[in-house]
Amino acid sequence: MARTSSIPASRAAKPKLTILLASPRGFCAGVDRAIQIVERALSQFGAPVYVRHEIVHNRFVVESLEAKGAVFVDELHEVPAGAHVIFSAHGVARSVPAEAEKRGLAHIDATCPLVSKVHYEAIRHHEAGRGIILIGHAGHPEVIGTMGQLPDGAVLLVESLADAEKITPGDPARLAYITQTTLSVDDTAAIVAVLRRRFPAISAPRREDICYATTNRQMAVKALAARAEAVVVVGAANSSNSMRLVEVARQAGCVYAALVRGAEDMPWDRLEGFSRLGLTAGASAPEVLVQEVIEACRARYAVTIEDVVVTQEDVHFNLPRSLSA
Ligand code: SF4
Repeated sequence: MARTSSIPASRAAKPKLTILLASPRGFCAGVDRAIQIVERALSQFGAPVYVRHEIVHNRFVVESLEAKGAVFVDELHEVPAGAHVIFSAHGVARSVPAEAEKRGLAHIDATCPLVSKVHYEAIRHHEAGRGIILIGHAGHPEVIGTMGQLPDGAVLLVESLADAEKITPGDPARLAYITQTTLSVDDTAAIVAVLRRRFPAISAPRREDICYATTNRQMAVKALAARAEAVVVVGAANSSNSMRLVEVARQAGCVYAALVRGAEDMPWDRLEGFSRLGLTAGASAPEVLVQEVIEACRARYAVTIEDVVVTQEDVHFNLPRSLSA
């Protein structure tokens, strides 16, 4: 009787996959600082320490901090009197620290300094008598926080090219624009071009509001998209900068781009037949999740890693004085 020999599945040659790994990717200086603030507060004051909203937009980070004693709340009325409360990296409206003071809560601000810079710009323009146009996404915590630096009605929100075409500010000759820090660089440039055409005297930020981390991660994903058949972005659906990375990859011509929370979301079916996968992570996604995706790929493919480095980052923000000792 003829014997058929088949190679056991575990020893069968795996298909080859080159992972083009974006650099920079993942945590930015503002996210790193916000997480350190929660950890430092926990060790300095003991658990529980309350955090208003997700400190950064990533469930893995939030759950890791919960395990250490952080308690995440939606609003300040959920925080017991006398407790410590931390405000998230996205920034808060002025009414929030005011309410914390009124309630006798010890509050610590984890707002990213680059978001605070946008707040100061808004206040400066308002004090100079300019109307303010904020380019951003309605409902995002950063937008709520920035609009909340000024009285209701002082800031007009523009979300799209269509908004920019139809907005009717009170005094078109005295205007300034500011932007959310995590927008698409290219989409924002197109919106700004419309605003400049319609309002030639509009004041611009002294330095770009879209932050270095957002800009660099978008540059890196474009470099991936030019060479990869598919791009996977590790991040959360409520993370603006992560969602922008998916969009930028698609706009750069990548056939398939997807957001995954981690290895468990990998779209294996869609990757079938591809041999070059671009991999990156949003600014609030920890590196451990990227490494888990790589390990999951290794289980299915013979993986080669190629680093695609577009720039080096060397940005660090100090902790608030009350925690830095
Ligand atoms: S993405 Fe930019 S603005 Fe947001 S926390 Fe990071 S550095 Fe700050």
